[in-house]
Amino acid sequence: MATFARTLVTSALPYANGRIHIGHLAGAYLPADIFVRFLRMRGKDVLFVCGSDEHGVPITLRAMEEGTTPQAVIDRFHGENEAAFRAAGIDFDIYGRTSWPEHHAATAEFFRRLEAGGHIEKRTIQQYFSTKMSMFLPDRYVEGTCPKCGAANARGDQCDACGTSYEVTDLRDPRSAVPGDGSTPVLRDSQHWFLRLDRFQERLGAWLEAKTEWRANTRGTALGWLREGLRPRCVTRDTEWGVEIPVDDPERRGKRIYVWFDAPIGYVTNTRVWAARRGAPDAWERYWKAPDARIVHFIGKDNIPFHAIIFPAMLAGQGDYTLPDAVVANEYLNFLRAGEAAAVKFSKSRGTVVEVQAFVDTYGADRMRYYLTAIAPEGSDSEFSWTDFLRRTNGELADILGNFIHRSLSFAVKNFDARVPAAGALDEAGRRALAAVAERRDEVGRLIERFQFRQAQIAMLELARLGNRYFDEQQPWATRRSDPARCAGTLHVCLQLGAGLARMMGPFLPESAGRLAGMLGVEDPHAPGAWGRIGEDLLAEGAPIRPPEILFPKLMPEDVPQ
Ligand SMILES: [Zn+2]
Repeated sequence: MATFARTLVTSALPYANGRIHIGHLAGAYLPADIFVRFLRMRGKDVLFVCGSDEHGVPITLRAMEEGTTPQAVIDRFHGENEAAFRAAGIDFDIYGRTSWPEHHAATAEFFRRLEAGGHIEKRTIQQYFSTKMSMFLPDRYVEGTCPKCGAANARGDQCDACGTSYEVTDLRDPRSAVPGDGSTPVLRDSQHWFLRLDRFQERLGAWLEAKTEWRANTRGTALGWLREGLRPRCVTRDTEWGVEIPVDDPERRGKRIYVWFDAPIGYVTNTRVWAARRGAPDAWERYWKAPDARIVHFIGKDNIPFHAIIFPAMLAGQGDYTLPDAVVANEYLNFLRAGEAAAVKFSKSRGTVVEVQAFVDTYGADRMRYYLTAIAPEGSDSEFSWTDFLRRTNGELADILGNFIHRSLSFAVKNFDARVPAAGALDEAGRRALAAVAERRDEVGRLIERFQFRQAQIAMLELARLGNRYFDEQQPWATRRSDPARCAGTLHVCLQLGAGLARMMGPFLPESAGRLAGMLGVEDPHAPGAWGRIGEDLLAEGAPIRPPEILFPKLMPEDVPQ
């Protein structure tokens, strides 16, 4: 793998038209946060960028439903979602907004440069028009039957049932989705602006061919688009809510830039604003335009075409931007209700939404992070269930990790005067246990670098498992009288494993990692470079330790919804 001087990590911008739920978190945010925390702990230059996507029809639809303005909708959900991410320990360097003037300016600049390069052209298209409402209907204002799988209630440009994207005119039995409309729309001529994706076929093909280490879902989807041949794609819409089309043309009236054109530019805008706020307005270019920087996008699988084809084409068309090094797309996390055989989508109307803020308020951020990583939908869809949440957080987090920490620290506090006992002459088992710390560190690091977060967390937990086994085999409760020096050596080793765990937990369980570090009196696990010191700078003999708090109190069955 090539080495990079800097890494820019982005998570898909969530729509500011509702609260984020744990399905969102598991897809594009938690894995990215683990990756970023790991890189920071390795002392790497990494920037983590996200923000609200505040344009698009879902926002105007929500405003219409609530009888309010789009601005009121985005102000509310931008604030709520930023707070929910913070509560979940998702540590963005900046959480921006696409309603910022800086974003409108950056989007206009992208559009103009593409147009100047001949990559954007105006075309006449046939578009649905509601005669009842006297308006052209953007794709999301049209519903109908999926042309591919026949599902009813498919959206104008995409089917939620089978995941296919299509042109709105391919939809069968179209009807207007404007609240209070519902009429059958008619096709009329309309002028729009198109991005000439076809001009990027070769460049994107060469770029994707080299991305052999990408997940199969991401690369497969992108190569599928290329095989079918890239076609010009409309990047403007009939709406009053969005970035103005930066052309001197009366046809632009009543139209705006399509939200899917401007949203990924939000990554650029937010990096620029981050740099400006630090008093180094050009610093953003070191992440977007430098050959020794890598860009890593974390997304849900529905966003693959935009991040692996369309946005890279937009970047290529600018002339001086680098293309993403990795696009990490997760499958979907679904909801499995107790007693039911099949999982369903998280859905507010079906009562299957678990909002991030509410979850953290009830169970704490680290329990949520642990479970969502344990069931991460990395290679296929996966299922959230309350029963499984209870089983895993009690049986793994509390019984393995929490138990090892608690028994080691309380034994040392009680029998060794709350100090790290002397190692003495360690036997083979003790030396092997100590050596395992650095081995686990390297294994966890390798897995995180490969975006295998589920396996990485298992590898981290393995150190606690090993610690419990060692504690049981050494029987310090017996050697305390029969062989005090050996008992001291056993506890010395256990505390060193604990110190290793405090830091190794950092990317996954940041809050508990900090608490454990405090009990052991070791450095802040999130300090730059702390990762490399795992297993290297050991606890000093005689160093004080604090009586342990219980890191993960057990949950009772009645603590979770039935
Ligand atoms: Zn379908």
